[in-house]
Amino acid sequence: MLSYDDCLKYSAQKHYCPHCETKLSCCETPPFHIGDGLGWGAEVMFICLNNDCPVFSNGWDQIENQYGHNGSYRYFLLPNEKKGDFVMVGSSEAFTGSIIEPKQLKAQNERFQNEKEALKQLDTCVEEKNLKPVLSLILDESAGHNGRLRAISLLVDLNDLSCVDPIRNHKFDASKIEHAVNSTIAGLLKNNFKKECPYCAEIIKLQAKVCMHCSKEFKA
Ligand SMILES: [Zn+2]
Ligand SMILES: [Zn+2]
Repeated sequence: MLSYDDCLKYSAQKHYCPHCETKLSCCETPPFHIGDGLGWGAEVMFICLNNDCPVFSNGWDQIENQYGHNGSYRYFLLPNEKKGDFVMVGSSEAFTGSIIEPKQLKAQNERFQNEKEALKQLDTCVEEKNLKPVLSLILDESAGHNGRLRAISLLVDLNDLSCVDPIRNHKFDASKIEHAVNSTIAGLLKNNFKKECPYCAEIIKLQAKVCMHCSKEFKA
């Protein structure tokens, strides 16, 4: 596995296509090598993904004439090599899914570090009355489900109703998380003798007959 530091180092490197002068994209090497079957010998490669590059635009005819099938070439360079080579591709989409972008990489790493830190803080958040790590995990769609469920389970002990708004404003992808959140909030509100107005969703007293926010009346 490629480490984060290696990824960052490679993706920050600047290499240019000798055929079209375009900056090469840093990509993960595919798991197989179509050519000699020896593998790539590298975890990343720099590849020209410019569709106007003559290597690519002329490659279709070359492959059609030579092999009689549909495909083209891309220019690529392996790390620490001076001279690049050509790789056959079946479409313009090839390799575009494995581009390593430094910006994206940094954002991913930051999110991961935040998740790790928040998970650590779960141990002490209740005694410290610290809702922050709990909320950040619950609202992080990329965080692991176990950590998020654990965070949800702490909402009742934290007993901080300011968690309701940000959670209500969030769209949960996983129904498992959404269900856990909904039933936990229902319990939390009940413990505080509150409920959510079915009309405007503001938090009101459990026994209220009229919503103090939207003035709607409730039938008994
Ligand atoms: Zn090029
Ligand atoms: Zn209301």
